[in-house]
Amino acid sequence: MKKYSLLDLPFSECKKIFEQLQLKKFVAKQIFHWIYQKNIYDFDKMSNISLNSRKIIKQNFMISDAKIIKISSDEKKETFKFLLQFPDKNSIEMVAMHFKYGWSICLSSQVGCNMKCKFCASGNKTKVRNLKPSEFILQYILAKKYISNLFHKNITNIVIMGIGEPFDNFDNLITTLKIFTNPFGLAIGPKHITISTCGICPKILELAKLMPKINLAVSFHGPNDKIRSELMPINNVYNCDLLIKTCKKYCSLTKNRITLEYLLLDNVNDHEKHALELIKRIKGLNCYVNLIPYNQIQKSNFIRSAKIEKFFDILKRNQILVKIRQERGNAIEAACGQLRILHGQ
Ligand code: SAH
Repeated sequence: MKKYSLLDLPFSECKKIFEQLQLKKFVAKQIFHWIYQKNIYDFDKMSNISLNSRKIIKQNFMISDAKIIKISSDEKKETFKFLLQFPDKNSIEMVAMHFKYGWSICLSSQVGCNMKCKFCASGNKTKVRNLKPSEFILQYILAKKYISNLFHKNITNIVIMGIGEPFDNFDNLITTLKIFTNPFGLAIGPKHITISTCGICPKILELAKLMPKINLAVSFHGPNDKIRSELMPINNVYNCDLLIKTCKKYCSLTKNRITLEYLLLDNVNDHEKHALELIKRIKGLNCYVNLIPYNQIQKSNFIRSAKIEKFFDILKRNQILVKIRQERGNAIEAACGQLRILHGQ
């Protein structure tokens, strides 16, 4: 008989299955407490659950696992990159970063990626498969354990910006978010979670309906369709106008401010005219623009723009909220766009 993986189940679903198995209602609460608050994954150690209930649980459920097979860190020990392997030998990377406000973790959402953005190493390998909710959760649990052992600090923020397009794995993403935010689950405030998408418009609106409090970042990168389509093939499906219109709708549905990510590439999208075009396009959108310095990846002809400060000034002068992304992890190829699948498959 196939067992349910407990880490794949949101609280409501777990409760339902427990009831079908004639387990007492409160047992679901107890088991979530052991797993997510006490970090106990061995059913035999869940001492307040009766032996009979534990027997039924063991017959029907398992807790999936993953192995950290490599950890690299920068000299200052502010960035850690983990290579994580799942039982089917597929692997992904995730990154823990220390900022002034605390530790943040960047999670992957797929093994590989199908979006084929020209500047991103993650898309060099096509998608092998989606990550399951348990595999998102395991990234968090394992990084949290490592950081807390080493620094006695918690992880305060989660960004889903690693390998993969989270909206191309939408159902598992939503289940994961339910487990992250449920008070009986990991109890993480939705404002501490950010999802980055390349701009799959229908899913932006679905997120607004299902999880309106989660932060959303959109990879924009091109001020017009010509440039954006060249950089990001998804623009041929959801173009700039539709994307900005969708972002506006998202903001009015959720009352959130959206983050627009803009990667600056030398002589591609970093001229003054591009800044002015961007300003015009995002007029009336409740957003702040996050300017991203390009991180070099193998087999790419793009060059990091030297005009980032100038671009920043133009936006600022035009009353656009703008920030330059703090750089992390470049030395260990753990920065934005540098993550990829190295082993397995
Ligand atoms: N698929 C999602 C999330 C993964 S990429 C998305 O497209 O948003 C996370 C962020 O890193 C995106 O803004 C992406 O455009 C950016 N990025 C990708 N490659 C990069 C590179 N080489 N240098 C800097 N940022 C990069």
